[in-house]
Amino acid sequence: MVPTAPATTAEEATAGGHPAVGVDGSYDVVVIGGGPGGYATALYGAAAGLSVAVIELDKVGGTCLHRGCVPAKEFLETASVYRTVAGAKAFGIAAGDDGPSVDFATSQARKQQVVDQLYHGLAGLMKGRGITIYSGSGTLLSGHRVQIAGNDGATTEIVGTDVVLAAGSVPRTIPGFDIDGTLVLTSDEVLDLEELPGSAAVVGGGAVGCEFASMLSDLGCAVTLFEALPSILSSCDDDVARVVARSFRKRGIDVKVGVQLQGHVPDPSGRGTVVAYGEGEKLAVDAVVVSVGRRPRTEGLVDPDAGVVIDEQGFVVTDEFMRTSADGVWAVGDLVAGAPQLAHVGFAEGIVVVKSILGEPVVPVDYERAPWAIYCHPEVAFAGLSEEAARRAGYDVVVKKDPFGGNSRARIIGDVEGLVKLVAERRADGSGGRLLGVHMVGPWVTEQLGAGYLAVNWEATAQEVADFIQPHPSLSETFGETALALAGRGLHLG
Ligand SMILES: Cc1cc2nc3c(=O)[nH]c(=O)nc-3n(C[C@H](O)[C@H](O)[C@H](O)COP(=O)(O)OP(=O)(O)OC[C@H]3O[C@@H](n4cnc5c(N)ncnc54)[C@H](O)[C@@H]3O)c2cc1C
Repeated sequence: MVPTAPATTAEEATAGGHPAVGVDGSYDVVVIGGGPGGYATALYGAAAGLSVAVIELDKVGGTCLHRGCVPAKEFLETASVYRTVAGAKAFGIAAGDDGPSVDFATSQARKQQVVDQLYHGLAGLMKGRGITIYSGSGTLLSGHRVQIAGNDGATTEIVGTDVVLAAGSVPRTIPGFDIDGTLVLTSDEVLDLEELPGSAAVVGGGAVGCEFASMLSDLGCAVTLFEALPSILSSCDDDVARVVARSFRKRGIDVKVGVQLQGHVPDPSGRGTVVAYGEGEKLAVDAVVVSVGRRPRTEGLVDPDAGVVIDEQGFVVTDEFMRTSADGVWAVGDLVAGAPQLAHVGFAEGIVVVKSILGEPVVPVDYERAPWAIYCHPEVAFAGLSEEAARRAGYDVVVKKDPFGGNSRARIIGDVEGLVKLVAERRADGSGGRLLGVHMVGPWVTEQLGAGYLAVNWEATAQEVADFIQPHPSLSETFGETALALAGRGLHLG
């Protein structure tokens, strides 16, 4: 075994350069994987004075920064700018008679600039906290030892008093749709495109599929969205999912639900492919975007002797404090069984791990009440139970819905599509008591969810929320007004 000394900086390590000599190879915490779950654990642990090493085979920042949240939202912002310019005439602003056009190579360069800036910021922050970064692939062995197959070809071993598994996830695929990066793409490839396809079949109507369908359609691509379930965004409240489906159809996205795909046959010319679906139906498109979820990246991550239980789907099994079945081994992020695959959930889990290691009081992450934000147009944001889930859970519920159409700020910005819906426990007088769920769809709702998230997690009642003032004119008034009406008496809403 050739020892690989650690890199002194994230920059050095992630650039793949030969690491410089570092510490003696033992740390308070060793983290395998430098995505949101891993880097949050590392930053929070280092802030508490723990010595921390992170092993990362690619670049710190993980899926979220390089192939997920950040680049996807940057392109959705490009789509938003396009919509704004296209609608400028209504505001008396001339933007040319032909309307806007897209130079996607420039959009791609801007996206990369944003990603690079954030990456350098994160790398610098980790360096500043004294976190040691090893460039390579980590495998947990018994006794908290971690073997690193370095990107420079060398192998070494380090040891942590505690070890955190944070190797994340990779896109799932479906039979009959092998990823070739040209005709069939996952999110990884879409986010690196230099040119947009003229037409696309987006497979999967979840958060990522809806974001891609929305972005591609806004930028001029003819989109067909395929979903096998009876509706898109099936994890959202039905009213919210309906608003998005209606908006998509109005904008020309062909939303096909309850449909199974059989496969595709590439056009012999090399340009485009024909997708087979349903009962012998066919659709010719330039590209197929497969967005059917992500699988945990646990192959080769853990030696069987390490004693970590991994379930049949490859997820790491933990308790609510993120402890695996091996003492002193923890897991955070996308590879955790039963956890929502969200960057901010990974952040929160990392904090739980560090506090637990330090023996500090800690509240486990409540997955059922985590905030969700989907950045398609119209945006979606929610926390807590949908109306249907609340009823299924046995609550006697009362709901109130207020459309953005009556909101003055929504009228001012010219974006009135959507609503706020609150789900609460019914009180004896029929009004809403404790809030169980806050559901929003419409303009900038991802930025408005904070108050709703707090209310649901604080177990506030509708009246307690209604007592707070919302600024006028603001989009958040719709949330306030819905709470007021739910508490028994609204200003505008009955
Ligand atoms: C298109 C898209 C959009 C998304 N949008 C959002 C969003 O808006 N909001 C949101 O909250 N979430 C979003 N997500 C999900 C989010 O990206 C993930 O939940 C998050 O990145 C998971 O963090 P993680 O640390 O668990 O794993 P990852 O981010 O996958 O990071 C794991 C890291 O570990 C490294 N690694 C893997 N195996 C090893 C090993 N053996 N040794 C060393 N290193 C290893 C990988 O290289 C990677 O850098 C999106 C995902 C996609 C694909």
